[in-house]
Formats: sequence, C-alpha cells, structure tokens
Amino acid sequence: MSSKTIPIADESQASSPMRLPVPITGRIRFENGHLIDERGRPLRDLRISLTDHCNFRCRYCMPKEKFDSKHQFLAHTELLSFEEIKRLVGIFLRFGVQKIRLTGGEPLLRKHVCNLIADLKSMRTTSGKSPDIAMTTNGTLLKRMAADLKAAGLDRVTVSLDALNEDLFQSINDVGFPAAKVIESIEAAQALGIPVKINTVVKRGMNEGEIIPILERFRHTGVIVRFIEYMDAGTANGWRMDDVVPSAELVERINAVWPIEPIDPNYTGETATRWRYKDGAGEIGFISSVTQAFCRDCSRVRLSIEGSLVLCLFADRGYDLRTLLRGGATDDEIADAIARIWSARDDHYSEIRLSETQKRSRSRIEMQFIGG
Ligand code: SAM
Ligand code: SF4
Ligand code: SF4
Repeated sequence: MSSKTIPIADESQASSPMRLPVPITGRIRFENGHLIDERGRPLRDLRISLTDHCNFRCRYCMPKEKFDSKHQFLAHTELLSFEEIKRLVGIFLRFGVQKIRLTGGEPLLRKHVCNLIADLKSMRTTSGKSPDIAMTTNGTLLKRMAADLKAAGLDRVTVSLDALNEDLFQSINDVGFPAAKVIESIEAAQALGIPVKINTVVKRGMNEGEIIPILERFRHTGVIVRFIEYMDAGTANGWRMDDVVPSAELVERINAVWPIEPIDPNYTGETATRWRYKDGAGEIGFISSVTQAFCRDCSRVRLSIEGSLVLCLFADRGYDLRTLLRGGATDDEIADAIARIWSARDDHYSEIRLSETQKRSRSRIEMQFIGG
C-alpha cells in the first residue's frame, strides 16, 4: 500500500475533541538510533488507558455532577481491542520503548486484563528483554486480583491513596469506599513481592492534613509515597492555581517532622524527584508538574482508550491510530505514521501553563481517556 492510500480520519473526525488525522507526510527524526521529537526528546515510555469507566468518582478527576448516569461512556466497539493494543505495542517496542503503564479510568475494570499483561510481557524490547509492565490503580480490586496479576507478569503497581482518614477518603472518592480496603490491597500486593508505590494527589484545603499520617503509616515498609501536585488535567475539575500545594512546601513540612534529603534520579526523564529520610526509613517522591515543569525530558506517549496517540497530558486531541489499524494499514505504515507524529512533537505545556491558563477557551482531554 502506498502512503497515499493510508486510511486517515476524515475532516469530521478531526473536529472531534479526540481525533486528528495522522500526517501522511513530514520529516522523521532519528538521533543515535533513537526517534526524537522537535525538542530532541526520545520516545521511551508508553501509557495505555484501558477503559473510561471507574468505580470511583474522585472529585478532582471524575466529579459525580459531570460523570453521572447521563454520562455517555464509549461503546465497547470504540475501544481498542487487546489484539489492536498488542499490535501497536509491538510497533512501539521497535522504537525502543521499554516501559508500559496500564491505566484508565480504572484499569482493573477492563475484563481479562491479566491476559493482556501476559501477552505484553511475552513481547521483546529492542534490547531483547520483556518490557517493564506497570499499572496505576485505585486499589479497589487489587487484593482480589493481585495473585493473577503477579502470575501474568505485572512488574510493579502504583496505588492511588489520597487520605487515611476514613471520612475524608470516602468523601474524596465520593462512593464511600474505605481507605482500609485500599491498604489491604497494598499489603496483598507487597506480600506477593510486587513493588508498590502510592500516588497521593495533594489539593489545598482537601488533604494537606493527611501528608504526615500517610508517611507515618508507610515509613519503614518499602512502599514509596509520591505526592502529586494537583494539576489542571481535563476540564471537569474546575482547577485553580490556588488549589495547588507546591512540592517545596511539602518538603518543608515533612522535613520539620522527619529530616529528609534529595537523592539522584533513577534515570533521565523520571517524573518524580526523589528524597529519602535521613533516618533510613525509606524514600519519598514529589511530582511537581505545576511548579517545576519537567517537559524538557518528557519522553512519554499516551495511547487513549479509543486508539488516539496523545503527545502530552494536557493535549486537547490525539492522532487517530485506530482508523489506520482498522483500515488495513501495514505495521510499517503505522510505524511511519507514529514516527512522523513523534518527530513533529513540540509539546511543553507545563512550561507555559501560566500564559495558557489565561486563555479561557483552552480545552483538554479528560484524564480517564489518557490515564494521567
Ligand atoms: N484509576 C486509577 C487511579 O486512580 O490510580 C488510574 C487512573 S488515574 C487518572 C491516574 C492518576 O492520576 C491517579 O493517581 C490520580 O490520583 C491522578 N490524578 C487524577 N486527576 C488528577 C489531577 N487533576 N491532578 C493530579 N493527579 C491527578
Ligand atoms: Fe477513577 Fe482514578 Fe479518576 Fe479517581 S483518579 S476517578 S480512581 S480514574
Ligand atoms: Fe510532558 Fe506535556 Fe507534562 Fe510537559 S506538560 S511533562 S510535555 S506531558
């Protein structure tokens, strides 16, 4: 098939908030064997959102008022099938992708997710190893599924936990799910030898009081707690700059209780800055997307639930790979399309957030489509 016949989304699809037609011309940029974007950033990590459904209604992500019984979730046929996901992953691995994170919505709600993990784990990266497979989950189903996930080959898991206080946690998830059950899931995963991290989104006035109790609970356990600055992801949450608690403020608060010190990143492009307790109780991470942008090293690409390639967490649309997949394009043609899209990537939203947030009309893809 010549590139002129590659199936691309038509103009009406392009006007949808999600799907841009893939470019059929354009430069492909390689440097030292790596596909690089306009800013010289290689493509390293792939995040795959498996479902737009969630059994929580976190107020900062899928608030009940907007995601109620009238909300139209995508039809099953709109989602990428496991076969389609695997085909795309095979193509991404050719470009040197080593790490894959499964997310959502709530990824454990996707039926037969363990089969997908096992199949992804049996694939090979350019260095001949199996890819590193991680998942971000709210932990509700993790206890029940941990043994199967481990057997399928899940390498690590990040569990979101914003509070230990039961009233507060249950009001944040807004479905009354107990924090104690999430902690049981964390313990179950750890008991099976799955490395666990915790994601705690900190929002001013919501859960600053929970920072020390959460750390106290997980010091000395090997679980790394990572505090995430509340972000203007999506548009449903009514984000305001005043809601952000800068990581620097958290460092100060924690340091006053248990002295901490910074440590080197594990690798270039790591989202979290790493700190450790001086008393040897373990490590803490800070993801400071708002106050300390890390766009310079951002090598992450996101595959949305319906097969759009999204180049930035704050993008308002993605490139429609699904039409290529379902329209008979070959793997090489899809690889070329991905290479062109990445080569033209210039995203650096967090570096220009302040000027951008003053533009009232800016839209963004909601978080559950691309998974954070
Ligand atoms: N449902 C899963 C979970 O909650 O872990 C996976 C999807 S969730 C969208 C991925 C991560 O994004 C979670 O850790 C969540 O806390 C975080 N998140 C969601 N909305 C956010 C926001 N506005 N700012 C910062 N982090 C956010
Ligand atoms: Fe669901 Fe995760 Fe969003 Fe909470 S943060 S509503 S658990 S997708
Ligand atoms: Fe990457 Fe976009 Fe976040 Fe910058 S704002 S670090 S480009 S996802």
